[in-house]
Amino acid sequence: MSEPVIRPIIGLEIHVQLATRTKMFCGCPLEFGAEPNSRVCPVCGGLPGALPVINRQAVEFALRTALALNCTIGRLTKWDRKNYFYPDLPKNYQVSQYDLPIGLAGRFDLPNDGGATRSVRIRRVHLEEDAGKNSHEGLPHTRVDLNRAGTPLLEIVTEPDLADGEETARFCVELQRLVRHLGVSEADMQKGQMRFEPNINLSIQTGGADARTPITEVKNLNSFRAVQGAVTFEIRRQADEWRGNRDYTLEKVGKLNYGWNDARGVTEFQRGKEEAHDYRYLPDPDLVPMIFESSDLERGRAALGELPLQRRHRWITQRGMAETDAETLLADRATADLFDAAAAAGADSGVLCKQMISFWSAEANARGASIAGLGVSAAQVAELATLTAGGDINATTAAAVAAKVLVSGRGPREIVEVEGLRQVRDENAAAQWVDEAIAANPKAVADYRSNPKKAQAAIGFLRGQVMKISAGKADPRQVGEMIEKRLTER
Ligand code: ZN
Ligand code: MN
Repeated sequence: MSEPVIRPIIGLEIHVQLATRTKMFCGCPLEFGAEPNSRVCPVCGGLPGALPVINRQAVEFALRTALALNCTIGRLTKWDRKNYFYPDLPKNYQVSQYDLPIGLAGRFDLPNDGGATRSVRIRRVHLEEDAGKNSHEGLPHTRVDLNRAGTPLLEIVTEPDLADGEETARFCVELQRLVRHLGVSEADMQKGQMRFEPNINLSIQTGGADARTPITEVKNLNSFRAVQGAVTFEIRRQADEWRGNRDYTLEKVGKLNYGWNDARGVTEFQRGKEEAHDYRYLPDPDLVPMIFESSDLERGRAALGELPLQRRHRWITQRGMAETDAETLLADRATADLFDAAAAAGADSGVLCKQMISFWSAEANARGASIAGLGVSAAQVAELATLTAGGDINATTAAAVAAKVLVSGRGPREIVEVEGLRQVRDENAAAQWVDEAIAANPKAVADYRSNPKKAQAAIGFLRGQVMKISAGKADPRQVGEMIEKRLTER
């Protein structure tokens, strides 16, 4: 028998906590780390007779995201109760959207290495509320904190279009970037604001027969690494399991829930998976259906702006930016906007990009901020890049000027003029500095002459000395050429 051909079938369910001020159906504030059960009212506490009120902002955020994911927007959308009993769910049902979600049949194009794209279909986007939190750590009993109960969640479900663990994790990264760009979520995974649940099974083809392994859903992953690890592990585990038991199929076993053990790097069986009918979904009689008008959709579209992947594509194709640099500058929307604004102000985009990913980025890291968070203006960033591109200052001076801009708030040009930092291209001045450096460093001169292997290092050293003597004002390229010429002359 020939080797089986194995193709993974991977889809994702993602829960994104929306960045609203208050909960989905009541006025309780959303606050991470607040005193347990201090942000609870009769509505989110599930007291009988309490009536929910829809959070308009959450609906707007959901609509915006569904539009960004190219979904068809359900003009009429309603709320349903998903019934189940669990201590962290005081109403005994979760309000969700069952058959009329906000978004349907969307698409998200994921860039691959080498410029190709993987088109991932989006099955649906709907709103729902989160449950509370149980904790059992170090206790003989369980504690329930309802602060999180009623938090607005956006659930995004993809079709099974992903190929492997790496691609699945990359999808998650791009989705995080998207929701942050849209301003609908902080998507901080350490705070559980973005949680991933991949569905995985395999198509195994052997001599005309196509077997499908059981679909496993790995619950509640909260890091990209865990997503990649869990999917990769499941692909191998399911293939091994099937090799040992040809009845390990979707038909015979059904769907299964697994968890991810991060410490051991393995998935672990939890339970058989519930089907929709187990939840006895029913329309919520306390919540009115929502109708979206054309004006709502227009407003939603207007709020999208240029999406991160479009921006990335434009930078790479039109500005010739390297992919890795684009990734760095896309880390947050404000920084990406800063780059575009500075480029629009006339700065050379190559120099601008280099400066942003080098010293601006270093200054930002040192302050635990983003580049945009440094408070530097697009005009200042552009001016510094222009001074450098025009040869008024060299790269080293540019970094020093950037630091001075941050401290003083003065513009780069002003700093360069006032402090006399303009690069000196004057041949005579440069020749004098070069002579001085050569005279003071006979060892480097000797190295250059005696050992060809050390020649480049010797020139580099002497150039550094000239930069020091000139207080950074020499043009390193000009000086380098002069040194080499002088040394060969002798
Ligand atoms: Zn409440
Ligand atoms: Mn859900």
